Amino acid sequence: MKMPVLFVGHGSPMNAIEDNEFSQTWKSLGKRLPRPKAILAVSAHWYSGGTRTSDAINPRMIYDMYGFPEELYELKYPVPGSPELASKLKESLGDIVTIDNLWGIDHGTWSVLCHMYPDADIPVVQLSINHQASAMTHYEIGKKLRSLRTDGVLIVASGNVVHNLALINWQMEGGYPWAHEFDSYIMNNILDKNHDAVIHHERAGSSAEKAFYTPDHYFPLLYAIGASEPTDEIEVFNEKCLMGSMSMTGYLFG
Ligand code: ZN
Repeated sequence: MKMPVLFVGHGSPMNAIEDNEFSQTWKSLGKRLPRPKAILAVSAHWYSGGTRTSDAINPRMIYDMYGFPEELYELKYPVPGSPELASKLKESLGDIVTIDNLWGIDHGTWSVLCHMYPDADIPVVQLSINHQASAMTHYEIGKKLRSLRTDGVLIVASGNVVHNLALINWQMEGGYPWAHEFDSYIMNNILDKNHDAVIHHERAGSSAEKAFYTPDHYFPLLYAIGASEPTDEIEVFNEKCLMGSMSMTGYLFG
């Protein structure tokens, strides 16, 4: 059986401890998707020099967020790692991937998975995003991950389609018009399987200039569409913009 691929808009780290529309969707996804043997997480928050992964048996939790309530730093999500999945990754990606066990499971991953799989009993391996690589390279790496799907691996790419903290308005309920415009541009092209327009996001025009100033939260999406197959059905979830400059929109391919 082939596992689906997910792109999740993770938004605020507070979603880890809040019961809201987003976390409820993640919970229900965990219940209705086929149970994976392992999870490969591509998190916006492991933005590194080179492509890295971990073969740690017990990866550590990374609390890579600042100024949030104590409760968030007390959350534990003690998932096992999977040296087996790490070695499959080495096989699929070859020399471009190196082992780095200094990182671990960061909040881009655990804030979502703690809702999807609250028992923390499915092994998780993270793959980093090389900040020196082009959008096309990220998409091509995503393609090489496709074969993992038939090995029972659920690929969870975690970022945000629109993510501009410099323009964020904490009081605003919805998104700025350009945030909705960019989010819709991406959604329409994903649904049309027009991946070129997603890789070259600048083709969206002026909305693309504000959607993000750094692509760390956007690049996970390219892994997800890369790992999707032409025959996959596509489901959109949590389609929403908030705080002006963030979109929570997620995609399920499979
Ligand atoms: Zn984030």
